[in-house]
Amino acid sequence: MKKVVVLGGGIAGVECAIFLRKYNFEVELISDRDYLYIYPISIWIPTKEKKLEDVIISMQDLANAHGFKFVKDKVVQVNKDSFTLENGGERKDFDYLIVALGQQKLKHKGIEYTYSICSTPEETLEYTKKLDELINQKKGGKLAFGFGGNPNAKEAVRGGPVFEVLFNVDYYLRRLKIRDNFELTFFAPMPKPGERLGETALKMMDYMFKKLNIKSFTGKKIVEFTPDGVLLEDGAKIESDLTLFTPAGDGHPSVKAGNLPQTNAGFVIIEPTNQVKDCENIYAIGDSAALEGPEWKAKQGHLAEVMARNTAYNIALKEGLEKGSPKTYIEHINILCLMDMGNGGGLAYRDDKKAMLIPLPIVGHWMKKGWGMYYKLSKLGKIPRLPGM
Ligand SMILES: Cc1cc2nc3c(=O)[nH]c(=O)nc-3n(C[C@H](O)[C@H](O)[C@H](O)COP(=O)(O)OP(=O)(O)OC[C@H]3O[C@@H](n4cnc5c(N)ncnc54)[C@H](O)[C@@H]3O)c2cc1C
Repeated sequence: MKKVVVLGGGIAGVECAIFLRKYNFEVELISDRDYLYIYPISIWIPTKEKKLEDVIISMQDLANAHGFKFVKDKVVQVNKDSFTLENGGERKDFDYLIVALGQQKLKHKGIEYTYSICSTPEETLEYTKKLDELINQKKGGKLAFGFGGNPNAKEAVRGGPVFEVLFNVDYYLRRLKIRDNFELTFFAPMPKPGERLGETALKMMDYMFKKLNIKSFTGKKIVEFTPDGVLLEDGAKIESDLTLFTPAGDGHPSVKAGNLPQTNAGFVIIEPTNQVKDCENIYAIGDSAALEGPEWKAKQGHLAEVMARNTAYNIALKEGLEKGSPKTYIEHINILCLMDMGNGGGLAYRDDKKAMLIPLPIVGHWMKKGWGMYYKLSKLGKIPRLPGM
């Protein structure tokens, strides 16, 4: 049986390994963490609704459940015929290689004074600790929440989780009856952050900011972060004791260090089948891959999973284990986001024809919690999968 090496144990890499095993390929998954970190439900760590152990799945448990080999190591370079590991050195022992390493974040001046919910789990825990200090020791403070853009890859902007943490922190402080002791500010350099979710979503966000007394600074470039705030291009300053900031995504360093075809931002250039351009036996999936498609497209978890399943199928097709035509991700490009607000949520959907936001008071929150539970149990094979999930 052919050997497939999957680089990266996130949402995309794990789904691909699971589906490759259904065709009996020999699969080795290499990742730098010995657990899968479920980003979409990590938004509740700062507000104590989830602990780290609630939002991870042990990689060895996944490997045992599906029969793949897991190796913990850091990938430092990916090339057309090899990859290099920090401890394992250069390797060429694969028939197919899958790049599923996610993305890194753009660097901003003074970024060390900020915390991102979209980076490492350690950073989210550190943010949680700082928020605790403000709540328990200082009994108040100024909190800023923002995200940045990447002119070379608009689809790598990640705003949804920042809105989610902002609304959850607001609700958390209200539950603790100390919201009045805090000033909450949102900021982003684009004039209409969240615009790709459509006009209704923008109006709803504006309405929520006013209702919840959240200040907003948009359309001004970020110059620098400082220990006590955010400096903007017109000399304005957002005072902040604790800044949550998610820079836009950028290509993975190991891809940038190698010779795979890549965009200016360092995302791997792929065919609609996820095969890397001009590389017969290499595929890229999830956030590492450059996306084709409409202006409003976004890198999302559900698309990462479609890419992963398509890739397993397309490799099986090449090997004569499937019949039919190759599957592509293009027709699955949409934005599907269940945005949590602490005491409810909203289902945002966007495709070529429509953009809508359905408010889901109370139930939206529990739907997202339910999805998290379903995700964990179904990945471990403890409950059956729903079609297409
Ligand atoms: C806070 C947050 C909330 C989100 N909410 C939603 C949502 O509600 N709905 C939705 O559809 N999408 C959501 N997303 C987006 C979604 O999580 C991503 O699109 C998805 O995780 C991409 O999967 P991936 O496997 O490509 O990357 P990742 O999940 O980032 O996985 C990359 C993997 O590679 C490993 N890795 C990285 N570098 C190396 C290296 N050098 N060597 C070895 N291993 C390495 C990492 O440890 C990780 O296991 C959210 C994202 C964040 C950050």
